[in-house]
Amino acid sequence: MQTKNCSFCGANLLGRVDKKYCNDYCRTASHNQKKSENNQQIKLVDTALKRNRKILADVFDRLGQQPGAILERKIQELGFVFHFHTHTIQLKNGKEGVCCYDYGYVRTKQGELAIIKLN
Ligand SMILES: [Zn+2]
Repeated sequence: MQTKNCSFCGANLLGRVDKKYCNDYCRTASHNQKKSENNQQIKLVDTALKRNRKILADVFDRLGQQPGAILERKIQELGFVFHFHTHTIQLKNGKEGVCCYDYGYVRTKQGELAIIKLN
């Protein structure tokens, strides 16, 4: 007979072959653990997005929306992480704006960015 183990505590499972947990306690505990892991992941992404938005807002306040206002390298030094963004928009000039909530950036030249504020 093939033996299976509880997905939560690892104990040997007896009985039905489709059983995943030894009892309701292990089922509930496992679901709660997954939920909390998911929430943690969501919190990490939220934090990264808000940090990115704050950096864009700070740079915008200091320098405004001039082309090449800031170097990609420089904004990364401030803690900006490029792979976290909320959405992209198509600008009138055909370029793509990459946004974190109500702020975003546009690549102007190689390695240079302009910061944009959405209305
Ligand atoms: Zn168990």
